Amino acid sequence: MRSEPAVTAVIAAAGSGERLGAGGPKAFVPVAGRPMIEWSIDAFRACDSVRSIVVAAPPGHVGELAGHDLAVVPGGATRAQSVSNALEAVGTGYVAIHDAARPLLTSELVEALVADLDASPEAAGVIAAAPVTDTIKRSRGSVRTHSDRKEPRVVGGTEDRSQLWRAQTPQVFRTKALREALAAAERPEEATDEAMLVEAAGGTVLIHSVAEQNLKVTTPLDLRVAELLLAERD
Ligand code: C5P
Repeated sequence: MRSEPAVTAVIAAAGSGERLGAGGPKAFVPVAGRPMIEWSIDAFRACDSVRSIVVAAPPGHVGELAGHDLAVVPGGATRAQSVSNALEAVGTGYVAIHDAARPLLTSELVEALVADLDASPEAAGVIAAAPVTDTIKRSRGSVRTHSDRKEPRVVGGTEDRSQLWRAQTPQVFRTKALREALAAAERPEEATDEAMLVEAAGGTVLIHSVAEQNLKVTTPLDLRVAELLLAERD
């Protein structure tokens, strides 16, 4: 009989949250009455496959997660460094990397990603991603105008959006594949997600199509939308 996959959840929570302008790290900003990160912790706790949770916390906030029955490691200067620190505390075959900035996470999504990876022995990982619905332009340079207004950029081309996806988290990997990809990366600090590292190392990464709901809180508008959606859940 095949054994069930064992997963460690890693929550990257060490960002400064500057763009949100909440005056502190985004992961601890209240959303629908609770620090943002707690919504993700709850979703992972509700997963049968998740054995433990490791949080990469911002400096000075490590103690705030006391009593949550999880491992807390200090975050690094870059996202890749935060994830790398957390990976040291991972002892399972699979690891699910998640941004604290996505509080609408559900246990169903995590389990679906884990099942996809478990069913695909050739894959190193699987990511949640939403299809692109806008028409996407690439810009090239800008033109001069006769006014003092900011110089407008010029359209250089239109992308084929049927092939484009907006990568989200969670992203579930075979732990060994992610560790090796991190070790092999020449400039890990430039990675905006973990799949980039695994792709660069030649690993196959699957896409699991998800709904818009799993939004990332970056701006005050995102925060308002997340509040409304989370408040609706109860
Ligand atoms: O900056 P951005 O919104 O893309 O960050 C995505 C996630 O990565 C956030 O949850 C943030 O807390 C985390 N992060 C981190 N360590 C850093 C920078 C970002 O854990 N040094």
